[in-house]
Amino acid sequence: MKKPFVSLERLQAITQQYPTPFHLYDEKGIRENARRLKAAFAWNPGFKEYFAVKATPTPAILKLLHEEGCGVDCSSLTELMLSDRCGFSGSEIMFSSNETPAEEFELAARLGATINLDDFTHIDFLRETLGYIPETISCRFNPGGVFQLGESKEGFQVMDTPGDSKYGFTRPQLFEGFKKLKELGAKRFGIHAFLASNTISNDYYPALAGILFQLAADLQKETGCKVAFINLSGGVGIPYRPDQPENDIAVIGEGVRRQFEEILVPAGMGDVSIFTELGRFMLGPYGCLVTKAVHFKHTYKEYVGVDACAANLMRPAMYGAYHHITVMGKEDRPLDHVYDVVGSLCENNDKFAVDRPLPEIELGDLLVIHDAGAHGFSMGYNYNGKLRSAEVLLEEDGSTRLIRRAETPEDYFSTMVFD
Ligand SMILES: *Cc1c(COP(=O)(O)O)cnc(C)c1O
Repeated sequence: MKKPFVSLERLQAITQQYPTPFHLYDEKGIRENARRLKAAFAWNPGFKEYFAVKATPTPAILKLLHEEGCGVDCSSLTELMLSDRCGFSGSEIMFSSNETPAEEFELAARLGATINLDDFTHIDFLRETLGYIPETISCRFNPGGVFQLGESKEGFQVMDTPGDSKYGFTRPQLFEGFKKLKELGAKRFGIHAFLASNTISNDYYPALAGILFQLAADLQKETGCKVAFINLSGGVGIPYRPDQPENDIAVIGEGVRRQFEEILVPAGMGDVSIFTELGRFMLGPYGCLVTKAVHFKHTYKEYVGVDACAANLMRPAMYGAYHHITVMGKEDRPLDHVYDVVGSLCENNDKFAVDRPLPEIELGDLLVIHDAGAHGFSMGYNYNGKLRSAEVLLEEDGSTRLIRRAETPEDYFSTMVFD
């Protein structure tokens, strides 16, 4: 069973101070999880997690992760600016962008970020933009085809289809690219790949590591380029549904270590650093959207209207994604009602849950929508003139801190030209 990280009593007190809807984050959970990740890869002296800023671009969250030893993974101008303002610099910043504007490469270089190129043609573009090629450079790999894990009872498990994805170099391009970058002055090389998203499997990272480690060994052997780091990127998922198993990061770290010792160590590459760029795994379960039941509607279905909408959390509307809902204070009641839990957008996909068995809901009940800590607030938008909500941090000592105020109508009107 999924349990909220905050009690009804505490939440009632918090809503006295901050009106619903708002996003609430759990500092203790975030820190403990970041430490579990670090421990899982402690066997690799150069290990570093570069938190994917797009998942939760909030200064207090980024600073907290910085304190836990994380860097940041940016993919836009403002994410770079945000990371700079939060105190990240140099090799603490990874810049994994695509279709990149020149000004973004310029800022990344000025900050000393590690640039992860998405395409062969970006080698010339980067050189023309900067006037040089940085000594440390990374390239993103796309093996094409489908990415599958080893054979199981049901056959191969297809995780994703890299062949349909716009990212990365092909294998021949990577070999050519490394040679070219070396000629242009690059000295320390990295490779990166993101082959499957939100995986619930302890085998994803080890399988990806196996592919990248072998590729790195081949690349170093054939091109003479010194591979300094291998970036496993994001994609380690979280169980959005209560019946899904959790990934065990200690098992995942151990699986990657086994590949490292089988492939890289014999190739004389035991000094390679392992990087990760997790977003969802770092924050997803440690944030929730808090909303209130404000209306009922009994037509062809039973609807509960809440004061949050898809503008606060887009995943259910956009992907049909499941987000678990707890009706606070009614955790032990039978799930003997079936509701559609809906927001107020003039869009029929604005439904946090469809045909969801829940305990009987009364007006004013507080609903916690789980696993909104990553790709939640950050995907918010202003459709229908809806305003983005506040973000509140539940600190380790139990106190709360406003870490982003809610938007006001003035914010909404601030970019409009009236005359
Ligand atoms: C989105 C993204 C991530 C994080 O993905 P998660 O699924 O949140 O782990 C990491 N790296 C890159 C380049 C990304 O675009």
